[in-house]
Amino acid sequence: MGDVVEGRSVYKVRLFLWRLCTGTLPTRALLHYRHMIDNHCCPWCGEEETVSHVLFLCPRVTKLWGESGCAQLLEGVAHKPMKEIVASWARAEKKLQRRAVMLAWCIWMERNAKVFNNANTANSIILARVRRAIDEHDMYAKKIYGVQSGGGTESAKTWKAPTRGVIKLNCDASLACEGWVGLGVVARDCEGQVLFAALRRVRAQWPVEIAEGTSLLMAVRLAKRFGYENVVLESDSQVLISRLSKAMVYFSDLDAVLEDILMSSSCFNSLVLSHVKREGNVVAHHLAKIVPFGIEQIWENHSPVKVEPYVFMDFLSKDE
Ligand SMILES: [Zn+2]
Repeated sequence: MGDVVEGRSVYKVRLFLWRLCTGTLPTRALLHYRHMIDNHCCPWCGEEETVSHVLFLCPRVTKLWGESGCAQLLEGVAHKPMKEIVASWARAEKKLQRRAVMLAWCIWMERNAKVFNNANTANSIILARVRRAIDEHDMYAKKIYGVQSGGGTESAKTWKAPTRGVIKLNCDASLACEGWVGLGVVARDCEGQVLFAALRRVRAQWPVEIAEGTSLLMAVRLAKRFGYENVVLESDSQVLISRLSKAMVYFSDLDAVLEDILMSSSCFNSLVLSHVKREGNVVAHHLAKIVPFGIEQIWENHSPVKVEPYVFMDFLSKDE
């Protein structure tokens, strides 16, 4: 198993980006528009506090963009919707892209410090924070989002138990039945004990990657519901795991399913993506083939009889 590192700031940055893209960053202009506050003024200069004002255009922050070498990314920000701005950043060089995101985030933090504590931080300190945030992000990206495998460069062939305190969710999809997609998720702890087994049947014609992705999404949703904090998502789809790992580092490479997985994952303390060979994903594989009563069925603290032999098999191999 890989290390599990505290990564809250990475999730915060991602949530911040998400809010930017969806127009839900709680600026005063937005809160005023929603009749939640009377005053829509920028805490620094008194103009209307829109997203582009507070992040890019306010006299308080323009110097920061220049000093950090990101000024070129501000072209047209006054007129473009935020989603378009972020999308255009995604086309920029990776280092620049990341610096701009971190700077925008640090500016938003500084804005909050001003609004809530009337605090002011020197630009040099804010820029140092940006550099630290980038370093942390890179380190974290390497440790967490790198494709995990059971050890060495080869992906594991057998199921391995997670470390103590971490829950591993194995996910799989079955397209065996024409016009239907079966999704299976099994959650196990460091002892290899089943915490829950869940399956879902959806009427759909999905390509295999979308189906596999949806099983990961289902795992995330259930892990949230059960209140797990440190999770490993494991799938036998190499393509999906590596695309997702990449998408987590570079927010540019997203499609709807991946995006949902990422955004729903922001509640976890830590998240590891893991690829395992088919032989190591047998419980989820067979689970996905079972036809549930109704749309979704969940077994808590045990698994359906049909997959019990596979759970036992994994149990035996967990310490190998
Ligand atoms: Zn201002």
